[in-house]
Amino acid sequence: METSVKEVKFAADRMLGKLAKWLRVMGQDVIYGQHLSGYGLIHAARAENRLILTRDHGLKKKQPPDFLFIESDHHREQLRQVIQACGFSPLNKPFTRCLECNLILQPRSKAAIEKIVPAYVFSTQENFSWCPQCGRVYWPATHHQRMVAELRELALPQPRI
Ligand SMILES: [Zn+2]
Repeated sequence: METSVKEVKFAADRMLGKLAKWLRVMGQDVIYGQHLSGYGLIHAARAENRLILTRDHGLKKKQPPDFLFIESDHHREQLRQVIQACGFSPLNKPFTRCLECNLILQPRSKAAIEKIVPAYVFSTQENFSWCPQCGRVYWPATHHQRMVAELRELALPQPRI
């Protein structure tokens, strides 16, 4: 048997948009959308072998696959709960996934994005990546630093490697 750590994939119910976004900031694979509640959520999770994240007390009566009932209303507490339950490091692979589409970002050469990003960004940044689905271009900038600060503020115990 393989002993490598299995990546958990998530299906967040539609009440958990902020949690889903922050999990994507951390590079976690999470589907989220208006159709993801009740049986829609269960079917989507089952189809792709995803762990359901929900605040819906009624879901367990619908015979769902594995799920994690999210205790708190606050996204920081929610993140703490998911990270502790699943044991991944929040700063392991941040900013590797499109926040809108959930796809893994691809590196993009500087020449290829010249016409796409603002001139100031083009002249001050060197490393770019983009989402092959929506075409959104990402680069390390101040909002990334704020997000890293936010992740650090979670003050989570780092898993030992
Ligand atoms: Zn995208």
